[in-house]
Amino acid sequence: MCSEPSAAVVETPAARCLLCNVGCPVRIRKGGPDRYLPDSPARDAGYAGLCGRGSVLADLLDHPDRLLNASRCTAGGCQEIGLAAAMQEAAVALEEKGAAPVSGFMETGAVPFSGRAKGTVPFSQRREKGTAPFAAAIIADGNLDLDTLAAAGRLAASVGAAWSVFVPPSDAGLVHGLDAGGSAFIGPEDLADADAILIVGNAYATHPVAAHWVFEARKARPRMPVLVMADASGVTADYATSVFQPRLRSGEAACAVAAILTGQTDALGPESGRTLATWRDRLRGCKSLAIVVGAELDYADARALGTEVARLAAELGAKVCPLTTYGAAWGAVRLAASAGAVPIETILAEAPRTLLVMGVDLDSSLGRAAVGPALDKVVNLIYAGPMVNRTSRRASLMLPAAFPFEVAGRALLGPGREVRFGPLLRPPAGVPTIREILAALGSSADEKGAAPVSGFMETGAVPFSAKGTVPFSQRREKGTAPFADGPGAPGEGLLVAPAQDPFHFADGNLTRSAAWPQIVRPRPVLAMAEIDAQAAGLVDRGRAVVEGPGGSVEVEVAAGSTQRPGQARISAAFAEVRDMFGWTWDGRRPGEPVRARVRKV
Ligand code: SF4
Repeated sequence: MCSEPSAAVVETPAARCLLCNVGCPVRIRKGGPDRYLPDSPARDAGYAGLCGRGSVLADLLDHPDRLLNASRCTAGGCQEIGLAAAMQEAAVALEEKGAAPVSGFMETGAVPFSGRAKGTVPFSQRREKGTAPFAAAIIADGNLDLDTLAAAGRLAASVGAAWSVFVPPSDAGLVHGLDAGGSAFIGPEDLADADAILIVGNAYATHPVAAHWVFEARKARPRMPVLVMADASGVTADYATSVFQPRLRSGEAACAVAAILTGQTDALGPESGRTLATWRDRLRGCKSLAIVVGAELDYADARALGTEVARLAAELGAKVCPLTTYGAAWGAVRLAASAGAVPIETILAEAPRTLLVMGVDLDSSLGRAAVGPALDKVVNLIYAGPMVNRTSRRASLMLPAAFPFEVAGRALLGPGREVRFGPLLRPPAGVPTIREILAALGSSADEKGAAPVSGFMETGAVPFSAKGTVPFSQRREKGTAPFADGPGAPGEGLLVAPAQDPFHFADGNLTRSAAWPQIVRPRPVLAMAEIDAQAAGLVDRGRAVVEGPGGSVEVEVAAGSTQRPGQARISAAFAEVRDMFGWTWDGRRPGEPVRARVRKV
């Protein structure tokens, strides 16, 4: 006789911090009224608590800049409106083909919310002669969960809009470069088993919890090589058995990785070859070699780096541990490729009449020069997201939405690393999730027609070469990338590149009012060589102004002897810093180093 089956125990999966692809489990404990304490529930599984960024999640919950109501905005100011009315306006604007601006018909209330075209029509078939290639477009943040992203793709297909997924250019390039190379991948959790580790990038700063497993490996095998190819002034270099610092130039790190394989170091400068020549021999004999790789510059740089790392890994029998700034970048890039998304710059170049931006502060992420001119031309800019930011301030319609960590979902942290996660807390009453907004705007609930989520998760078999599937193109002309090979000529300025660090989000304005990051690091840091600081009359920990092609920004100087003369790194987490770079789509592209003048305040 069988006993009664016991009631199934349904366990809610842990919430995850997706501020990088370590994807640490996270929970929040309430420590009092309006007081939330971040905590890591999975120390036993090898996770070593949360880093500074993950701890800030708690600061966002009752943030004063939280969007709680929908608003309609004009030059005269913003007026709160009901959420249903706002969604109706948004739905109509997405269907519009070019006559009246979104506010023109809303006064009459004559447009039925349910009036939606049925079926899936590719946007390319709906172009009218003499009009822009697409009248409407959707840009979704790549750190949204996969099912939400798929819903955005389905909505775009159903209303005939173009759509794109935003992931940082360095993440997109790294995913494309590595995914095309057929490497064997591991997550940071597997690094403890390695008997040698090659780290490309400043991993301990960008992904602090990943560093924990490198130290575990080293504890077990104290003599193991940890070879670091990164900025020598970064924290990762401090704990290396050997360091190689490439000159600062887009494509230089890829060139250096290739040199480990080929022994050809002539293109890397006179003193570079000696270090790299010894690395290949040191790595060849290892049984369990891991290559940890992160990218911080532009799309083309990251893609070239990914390609060369995949080649090196194949030759040495190594496993690759990719580190991305967006926790969900891998799945987002694959899904965008399989669901007809177009490059973000294509949408910005066309400046559609209606643009729905979901969860990403485009203006801050890519810098004002790359985004501002296009957003100025959009008639109906609709922003749906959890907080006020520079993009929402430009919007004609604002919809409040839950944070990604207030929603259950799934993400692909890296190849073979699909995670399901639960909500950290529920969103405030009356605030919908982005998936609910998409459903209200007409995204079908099933996967028929467009944007399938399953299918690519396990295989990675997404044709990245297919037209229109690359988030950013690599149009930089040959030979135009500047590099620093010593102090700059008088008046030339320093070559400055963006750098991620654990104290800041990649999305500057998001943290503008968050409490402790402002206290810890009130302004961006500029890491530069002592010799350059002295030449500019600057001292370590002093203040300076960096003047670049897109404007100026005040910084704290971190002068040291390890930074190469002529080049510098600046905290990328501030919107003002990204403005300073003056990135555009036909000049220095987002993420590329630029020449900037540094002077005393
Ligand atoms: S290491 Fe990454 S995932 Fe973990 S807490 Fe920090 S930002 Fe979040």
